[in-house]
Amino acid sequence: MTPADTIASRLQAIGATLPPDGSVRLVAVSKFHPAAQILQAYEAGQRAFGESRAQELAAKAPELPSDIEWHFIGHLQTNKVRPVVARAAMIQSIDSERLLRAVDAEAVRQGRRIGVLLEAHVAAEESKTGLAPAEIEELLRRPGLAASLPGVELRGIMGMATLTDDVERVRADFRALRALFDSLRAGPMAGCPRFDTLSMGMSDDYLTAVAEGSTMVRIGTDIFGPRQY
Ligand SMILES: *Cc1c(COP(=O)(O)O)cnc(C)c1O
Repeated sequence: MTPADTIASRLQAIGATLPPDGSVRLVAVSKFHPAAQILQAYEAGQRAFGESRAQELAAKAPELPSDIEWHFIGHLQTNKVRPVVARAAMIQSIDSERLLRAVDAEAVRQGRRIGVLLEAHVAAEESKTGLAPAEIEELLRRPGLAASLPGVELRGIMGMATLTDDVERVRADFRALRALFDSLRAGPMAGCPRFDTLSMGMSDDYLTAVAEGSTMVRIGTDIFGPRQY
């Protein structure tokens, strides 16, 4: 990335590496980047953006065009669901049944229906959040689950690979996520065509994720440059 690169040219370069049939969606991860930069990406045609903090989303969204599709990708505490449900089209980081129920209840209260992804933990790090694949299977197999969640639409799963330079380890993690996604679609979610999203892949590993069957990549640094925390 050189200083002469613009956000528009980086978006175009990334787009050129994704399948031309549109089977992989790009979420531009704008956390820690100002609204002015988001607007540059918007003007280049990007519509889906990812944020990871409730307060930051609530501060930026009103300053930006209303047809932006916000994806919430950060750890969400149950006491912060209200502003996120009000703004987000999709919450990708559902890491407990308690959070899923809290999002559902708030969406019903706001008269909304919100897309959700269950965050699956497959990486080696203990610190990574998410549900174990077996917990996701168990939850989705529960009779009457979807009917008990009128405020949410179960759209798929999200995951991250182990933070490592070992490409084969990263590939194995993405394969595990794809296997989980396929087994859910053949099992408890068979007959739910909208359970169609496997969100995996970030700046450093998205090409591997796409090769292993991702349908949605979440890219920040490669579009906006390094974050200023
Ligand atoms: C920050 C973040 C990203 C984007 O990471 P980059 O390395 O900047 O592309 C993707 N997914 C999640 C869950 C994140 O928190």
